[in-house]
Amino acid sequence: MTVLDGNKIAGEIQEKIKKEIDSLKRTSNQIPGLTVIIVGDNPASQAYVRKKHKIAQKLGINSRVIELDKRISTVRLIKQIKNLNQDQNVHAVLIQLPLPDTFKTWEILDHLDPGKDVDRFLPINLGKILLNRTEIYPCTPAGVLVILDEYQIDLTGLNVVMVGRSFIVGKPLASMLTNRNATVTICHSKTKHLAGLLRKADLVVAAIGKAGFITPDMVKKNVILIDVGQNFLYQRKDVIKLCTQSQQNKFEKKGYAITGDIHIDAFKKSSYYTPVPGGIGPMTVAMLMQNTLLLFKQKLKLE
Ligand code: NDP
Repeated sequence: MTVLDGNKIAGEIQEKIKKEIDSLKRTSNQIPGLTVIIVGDNPASQAYVRKKHKIAQKLGINSRVIELDKRISTVRLIKQIKNLNQDQNVHAVLIQLPLPDTFKTWEILDHLDPGKDVDRFLPINLGKILLNRTEIYPCTPAGVLVILDEYQIDLTGLNVVMVGRSFIVGKPLASMLTNRNATVTICHSKTKHLAGLLRKADLVVAAIGKAGFITPDMVKKNVILIDVGQNFLYQRKDVIKLCTQSQQNKFEKKGYAITGDIHIDAFKKSSYYTPVPGGIGPMTVAMLMQNTLLLFKQKLKLE
């Protein structure tokens, strides 16, 4: 079994991005601008945003975080988005999800300029993915494809089971895999005989949000396992049951551990797998930086 090392590949991608930004800065005298809006005080979201901001700054991106109180009105939040749509120095905007329950997600997202939609969630951008007519993909699905490519895993004809149908991961990734000639089955919470479907899969992608949900008995030998899930565990008994020794050690220091949707024992049956942490997480952040650069380059071309 080979580990698909997201930290390593993401680091290499970041180095390339930094070099390109340095060179574009010299030729155009401009730098890419990324603004992240975060509403409320969800600790996991805050941690993700801090990480994105830090890496963006390291790569020479003009990175800004707008932190808003969860009691902000829908009208004022939309006004913020419209201001960013007009701002010439902002090429990419990310609205950190999930928004607090008081907001209707699409009532907010729909106001973002699709040309600055760095997550590629807006209908026109998702539509382009379906039609295979884009070069910019949502960050997590893009991270999955890039890591598979880096390890030269040919997707042609593979029987893929995608567990999860969110617009963030499952739906776009299923289209992207289909466009790459895989045969994809999309599963969700109402799927019957999930284990039977999983056992036939050559490649499983898990984007569920349930720690250790896919167990070794549900997958065949030599399967490729892509674990998108990021689950925070706070109980020692769960950490012992579901986490690697290194995560257990971290738990003792931090008071929480992160694990995926695929049980760690299932990885032992695989030919390739992405660990959690250190797999799709860092790839997603690297793809955010790449998308910011691509949107910036699109704008430079238009000038
Ligand atoms: P959502 O909650 O939006 O979607 C979860 C999906 O899992 C739904 O389609 C749901 O089905 C399905 N599901 C839930 N329970 C079951 C079940 N018992 N059997 C089969 N399917 C089930 O989550 P996201 O797609 O946003 O995220 C999924 C996971 O990926 C989370 O852990 C999240 O933290 C992580 N994530 C990680 C990222 C990274 O950078 N590594 C980026 C984005 C997400 P239904 O539609 O029927 O409800």
